[in-house]
Amino acid sequence: MNDDNEAAGLNLHASSADQITRTTCYMCACRCGIKVHLKDGRIRYIEGNRDHPVNKGVLCAKGSAGIMNHYSPARLSKPLRRVGPRGSGEYQEIEWEEAMATATDWLGAIRRSDPRKLAFFTGRDQSQALTGWWASQFGTPNHAAHGGFCSVNMAAAGLYTIGGSFWEFGEPDWENTKYFLMFGVAEDHDSNPIKIGLGKLKTRGAAKFVSVNPIRTGYSAIADEWIGIRPGTDGLFILALIQELLRAGKIDEEYLCRYTNASWLVIQDEGAADHGLFARDASGQPLVFDSATQTVTGANRIDARPQLTGKVFLPDGRAAVPAFHLVATRCLEPQYAADAVAAETGIGADVIRRIAAELAHAAFEQTVVIDQPWTDWAGRRHDKMIGRPVAMHAMRGISAHSNGFHTCRAIHVLQMLLGAVDSPGSFRYKPPFPRPTPPGVKPTGRAADVQPGKPMPGPPLGFPTSPQDLLVEADGTPRRLDKAFSWEAPLAAHGMMHRVIRNAWAGEPYKIDTLFMFMANMSWNSSMNTAGTIEMLTDKDPATGDYKIPRIIYCDAYASEMVAYADLILPDTTYLERWDCISLLDRPICDADGVADSIRQPVIAPDRDVRPFQDVLIDLGARLGLPALVKEDGSPRYPGGYPDYIVHHERKPGIGSLAGWRGADGDKHGIGAVNEGQLDAYIANQCFWRHEIPAEARYFKHSNRAYLDWAVGMGLIDKPDPIVLQFYGEVFQKFRLAAEGHGEVQPPDEHRPRIRTYFDPLPLWYMPFEEAEVARDAFPMHALTQRPMAMYHAWGSQNAWLRQIHGDNRLHIHHATAARLGIAEGDWVAVTSHHGRIKVQAKLMDGVNPHTVWTWNAIGKRSGAWNLEPEAAEARKGFLLNHVISELLPERGDGHRYGNADPVTGQAAWYDLRVRIEKIPAEEGVSEPQFATLPVPPNLPKRPDVLRYGAGFRTSARGDAK
Ligand code: SF4
Repeated sequence: MNDDNEAAGLNLHASSADQITRTTCYMCACRCGIKVHLKDGRIRYIEGNRDHPVNKGVLCAKGSAGIMNHYSPARLSKPLRRVGPRGSGEYQEIEWEEAMATATDWLGAIRRSDPRKLAFFTGRDQSQALTGWWASQFGTPNHAAHGGFCSVNMAAAGLYTIGGSFWEFGEPDWENTKYFLMFGVAEDHDSNPIKIGLGKLKTRGAAKFVSVNPIRTGYSAIADEWIGIRPGTDGLFILALIQELLRAGKIDEEYLCRYTNASWLVIQDEGAADHGLFARDASGQPLVFDSATQTVTGANRIDARPQLTGKVFLPDGRAAVPAFHLVATRCLEPQYAADAVAAETGIGADVIRRIAAELAHAAFEQTVVIDQPWTDWAGRRHDKMIGRPVAMHAMRGISAHSNGFHTCRAIHVLQMLLGAVDSPGSFRYKPPFPRPTPPGVKPTGRAADVQPGKPMPGPPLGFPTSPQDLLVEADGTPRRLDKAFSWEAPLAAHGMMHRVIRNAWAGEPYKIDTLFMFMANMSWNSSMNTAGTIEMLTDKDPATGDYKIPRIIYCDAYASEMVAYADLILPDTTYLERWDCISLLDRPICDADGVADSIRQPVIAPDRDVRPFQDVLIDLGARLGLPALVKEDGSPRYPGGYPDYIVHHERKPGIGSLAGWRGADGDKHGIGAVNEGQLDAYIANQCFWRHEIPAEARYFKHSNRAYLDWAVGMGLIDKPDPIVLQFYGEVFQKFRLAAEGHGEVQPPDEHRPRIRTYFDPLPLWYMPFEEAEVARDAFPMHALTQRPMAMYHAWGSQNAWLRQIHGDNRLHIHHATAARLGIAEGDWVAVTSHHGRIKVQAKLMDGVNPHTVWTWNAIGKRSGAWNLEPEAAEARKGFLLNHVISELLPERGDGHRYGNADPVTGQAAWYDLRVRIEKIPAEEGVSEPQFATLPVPPNLPKRPDVLRYGAGFRTSARGDAK
């Protein structure tokens, strides 16, 4: 129903709904507001909520098809205990009490002996503030969500560089930008907000939108200019743009000096323990060279005119140069010249020069001026807000390469050079960002942190700033099962879920007892080397006959491919049947002008014997006696489950899961005591809370006195100190120095060259590992996936309505490439990597880089999974590229195999895949590999032969029988 009609007192849909309930969509991770129309106890219609800050009424195909996820025949209906071999699909239904007692029994024994033997990993859930806290309470460091195989490169590079990043951390200034440069974004992340933003930008008609992506679909299709770059070379393109801007002198020196560390002096004393670190005075204050007084002085002297280039001598006689000097020298190296990168990137030098000139023109000739006085951190009053209207956005396409961290960092360096971070018209932070670079929380899990029967003293995930923060034994052995925060991936800020099954199977670095997972389809589309992963899940120790991964507990709402490999299955509800909390402590829904969070409320009661995962986790914690989950008398602290926790849990005094309507009377926002009526207040406000940032605090947030004070008052940051943008990455140099033999914590010898090379404080590009290690002529093509607009990974491709949009997937090949290889539309082709071979059907197109083939992500299903017809197109014609991606890089000389991942963060390098394709005769029109059909778990609803959902509503509306 239209809100305007409602406001006017008109009810034009009198017969369409008995009830309209507002909640939050969960058909992807954007968290749009929705209004769910119920008729006769069934969901009739889902509508976008016009009042909601995320989507403002916009609803995508996925969101409206949420009805079919809710009524999916794949919904699990009762707890299950495995009775046949893993993978057989032989289960026995059990009662919840037995299921919970079994889980408590298994986990209790682990906790009393060695809590690390529980590996607790979750997928794309939105309750990571709860799950991480629960893992700490349990006492295991072996916890993370899916970020390590999603976009940690983007998040970590941003948080270590500018204290924020794209998507949840920031957004383009859609209203004011004049030039929008988007890297590697399909139609996936930030779906509705980007569509709304692009709509504004395109209709405003005063901005250019350039999309850099090997594939021209979705957003790229409406770009004013599409740059079909060769995968993995974005860093080269960005560094060439930087070189052009440096050569032209088109950089914002004032911005660099005021807001970044570009002017700070870097010690030049090769071989010394502080070589490459910032020169500091006795109080720890970084030093700059003041060109006015020709002296070395503190960087906090606001009357200084810092010099950006040239060697100077420190009081102790040693040489130093400003950080800018080093960054500029690197970026001006010949290999980053436009002419030099043209062949590798596939972008002509003339195009690179033109784009650089356009960026400079937008930034420096089209400045945006907002008539709003503000005061910076140093007390300088500014009459107006003056901005560089160049906005950038990046996502998976940059992130999922083994050079992704440095490519993301290069984008941020480019932004800083243009003065285009949180200035009008540029990229803008969304609260609670910016945060210190990086945020102050460190990972927990050292030997002293992990004790039988005790919680850990801090969270499993965090942001190391020196080798001392790593989770390694004295000999360098990783402390975590996934090897996050070890020398293999020192800054693995989101953990490395993609390494868990293999390491658990191999007993590397140690054996575990129980793998507990939620909503992560790890035996299918969430794993590389799918067939190998299935073997690991079912492999037994020949000596004992026991599974090498002894126990697997799995929680999901649906009969996904992973269910068949679990020993104990705890069925979850759908998103319309439970409470959820989209918290500032987790993945908030803020925008650049406001801080916001939201909830989901149950719209409809479950009709099956299922429980919300978060309720189960809280119950399990109480049964295990986890200290923060029980009261002094041992009774559950949150007997009302997750909604009880949402309202009453406080992370710090006055700071809880929700920031709105706090205080006993509900009149506080941000910080305040528990409010018993908080959820009612959210429901009364359409399930969200939003608080506007004061006008003078909306730009230059990293350095804006009003913003920093406001953010402290809201509990977003601890101190109102300015957040200095890290043009030069001193943190990385500390790891490099360790690799060169300095400090107490040093990498084992086999890791030294890798740390030395990739922990570079300066912008850097290197060839993605797989491309560098396999023969380029044997595997001459790149192979990628794109997430379609109508699907959210496996969630969408089991949805009866969305399946009609993408029922199967094909391999998209450029017409010219296909002609060269003799491949026609619909032909079957073999796709071969260094790891494996698949057989798929070809589709030809022009909007793709000629050296690249691609397909839609996660459309292929295993026969029988998700209660689909075993002969469904998703199973027989659909396919996954995952089958030909290896989770490990080829063996090195010493036998060690690094993960197929970024060396800094451990981000899974999905998009490094190299393949060759060849036409093959196809007697049967079936993709390969095919796996045995999975049996359907007990008591799943019958699949209708013909779905006519909604027909009953029509007859009901006429007064006929339903
Ligand atoms: S963009 Fe995502 S959250 Fe928003 S309506 Fe679509 S599926 Fe739902």
